[in-house]
Amino acid sequence: MATSTLRFLQRTSGVVLRSCHPEFTWAACQKRALSLQEYQSKQLMQDYGINIQRFQVVGANEEIGKAVENLNRQCGKVKEYVIKAQILAGGRGKGTFKENGFKGGVKLTTKTDEVAQFVSKMLGCRLVTHQTTEDGVKVQRVMIAEALDIAKETYVAFLMVRQADHEGPACVYSAKGGVDIEQVSEESPEAIHTEYIDIDTGITAEQAMKIAKGLEFEEKYLEEAKNQIMKLYNLFMKVDATQVEINPFGQTPDGRIVCFDAKLSFDDNAEFRQKNVFGMGDTSESDPREVEAQKAQLNYIGLNGNIGCLVNGAGLAMATMDLIKLNGGEPANFLDVGGNVKEEQVQEAFRILSDDKKVKAILVNIFGGIVNCATIANGIINASRNIKLGIPLIVRLEGTNADEARRLLADSKLPITAAASFEEAAQKAVACLKK
Ligand code: GDP
Ligand code: MG
Repeated sequence: MATSTLRFLQRTSGVVLRSCHPEFTWAACQKRALSLQEYQSKQLMQDYGINIQRFQVVGANEEIGKAVENLNRQCGKVKEYVIKAQILAGGRGKGTFKENGFKGGVKLTTKTDEVAQFVSKMLGCRLVTHQTTEDGVKVQRVMIAEALDIAKETYVAFLMVRQADHEGPACVYSAKGGVDIEQVSEESPEAIHTEYIDIDTGITAEQAMKIAKGLEFEEKYLEEAKNQIMKLYNLFMKVDATQVEINPFGQTPDGRIVCFDAKLSFDDNAEFRQKNVFGMGDTSESDPREVEAQKAQLNYIGLNGNIGCLVNGAGLAMATMDLIKLNGGEPANFLDVGGNVKEEQVQEAFRILSDDKKVKAILVNIFGGIVNCATIANGIINASRNIKLGIPLIVRLEGTNADEARRLLADSKLPITAAASFEEAAQKAVACLKK
């Protein structure tokens, strides 16, 4: 389970702050939330008039020289640089690179020649932070930005809450920013405040000012902080975000209010109207099996076991995984093919499962209510023939057209183990691995 924890956090981050809830829940399985890298989030924020530092992004050592040159052209002469590894996890500043032991995924330097040294120690290496697994996450891009002095660091996040007494947007904020917010919430929960926002009226100027004051900005900078808070809320709503987290939301000694870091996540249900945002979607950190499945419109989550499951309906998928575990096995995935499944999708699901070297048996458990069992059977037969499945396949089909489906499978002469009941299917799947 450990390798997927971070991704589950990202998926559930619409309801919890990004690192609050490391526990896996099956209910969270179905919810996906696109997250953008910091540099992508900041590009969006810029379009909404939100203050960020000027930056360049590099993906290879050869690009560093040009990026530094561009940044100096953009900013006049850069006095200090901040170099930031781009991964979706937080806590980068205190992270360590696995391969070379280099400390810090966020580095400051005034020396131009040190920029290349830092970037090259980050690119291609795995950054381990308190929010990643011990394997860390491979850094594919590094941001080189103009560093600014920070006089004050605060925390601001907008998120959607689903509480009975307030369903809608809320702003969580704290004057104690720049540090791990979970630590603040444990050590001094009274320092974290929540402002609930009426989704119809939106954030009011009074509310934004209340937040700015709560962040303890100096009197003369309150107006600017208020404006930035309102712009952040506007962005949050306009892009269908489930979370906009700024830590630190800071102030420079000369009174500029700047978002030094940004973590944005989006509601996948809004993909149809947020083409721009979802077009930026970066799948480089995703499980490749999940990326493939998403293309085929299959609801798939990779797990660490060895029994591949193909099921229709999230409830049945969860129950199937429970039964596998109850019988001493471990599911390799959560895969709900849904009610409108087409034969090609069944084939695609099979291809994903059989390409996964960890999968040692496949269990198909279908209850045909909307789904036609014969469609599934034809998909299974064609997929088994095309990909020459070399592992045991256990099939339980019940419901619409089940008799026809069973006949098709029997006539195919493929080495398929039929199971009469749901429980028997799980038992047979586990048992065939013990042989
Ligand atoms: P995180 O560790 O993944 O949350 O990455 P951040 O972008 O938040 O950077 C970590 C810390 O580095 C921040 O909390 C700041 O204290 C510091 N930092 C980031 N950018 C700057 C900058 O431009 N100037 C200064 N002085 N500090 C910075
Ligand atoms: Mg941060």
